[in-house]
Amino acid sequence: MTVGRFAPSPSGKMHLGNLFSFLMAWCSVRSAGGEMVLRMEDLDPQRTSAEFAAQIRRDLLRFGLDWDREVPCQSTRTAAYDAAFEKLEAMGLIYPCYCSRAEVHAASAPHLGQSEFVYAGTCRNLTPEQRASKKRLPAWRLRVPEAEWTVHDGLQGDYTELLSRDCGDFVVRRADGVYAYQLAVVVDDGDNGVTQVVRGRDLLASAPRQKYLFSLLGKPAPEYIHVPLLLAPDGRRLSKRDGDLDLDSLLGRYKPEEIIGVLAQAAGLIDKQEAISAKELASVFDWRHMRRDDICLTL
Ligand code: GLU
Repeated sequence: MTVGRFAPSPSGKMHLGNLFSFLMAWCSVRSAGGEMVLRMEDLDPQRTSAEFAAQIRRDLLRFGLDWDREVPCQSTRTAAYDAAFEKLEAMGLIYPCYCSRAEVHAASAPHLGQSEFVYAGTCRNLTPEQRASKKRLPAWRLRVPEAEWTVHDGLQGDYTELLSRDCGDFVVRRADGVYAYQLAVVVDDGDNGVTQVVRGRDLLASAPRQKYLFSLLGKPAPEYIHVPLLLAPDGRRLSKRDGDLDLDSLLGRYKPEEIIGVLAQAAGLIDKQEAISAKELASVFDWRHMRRDDICLTL
């Protein structure tokens, strides 16, 4: 059975781009008769709140996007992340990194076309004496192999990264003890029995890292489908800063079915722009009609 998930970070209100990814994830699961899981990704206590989580639940339901079970949120899952971390540590793959953010940036080149920096490996082979001489609390990085990892994305096709060149050893636990998204999401998707991950294309570059982590932890990786991003008319990516496209303000002007209709037509899923409920869209949903490239939207 297909098990999909909503994995919002309750760090703000949902915007149209989030809604679009969630709508696609939901239609994909419902059209396959599968199960939908809701997981609040509140890893970072400084940035997330129970109020935003409550609002996201309400907003999903306003658009008819329901779920079959809500699984424990990330802030309650430290023991599971500890266990995964210890497993990786026992494999000799984790090391402490004492670099500041500025040092990481100075020592690494931004990878072409990506906003992320590739870690140069500065702390990879420090001796115990060198480690002992450091004054700051370390972050913890995972060693990546000089090997290519390919993700067969359901929409974008094959996406390959040579992890050592394109990503570098990446942080799995921050210096303040908070686990990094990459580790937490893999442990959770594995434990929640997720078989299909549908999310924005901005996370495609994370998929090879996540597949690598799944293989180290001895679990099968889910199917990945990365959907186009929504762009404002001037080509910028829609973000939480686009106040007029936040859901409250849109719902003051349009019915949920009208908003779903605009998104569905822009995505290529229906021919005419017309009001349609999430349930009706799921009944005609077909990934083969879905656009791959980013969508410029005017509302
Ligand atoms: N929580 C992440 C976000 O809101 C999504 C993570 C994921 O879908 O893997 O951006």
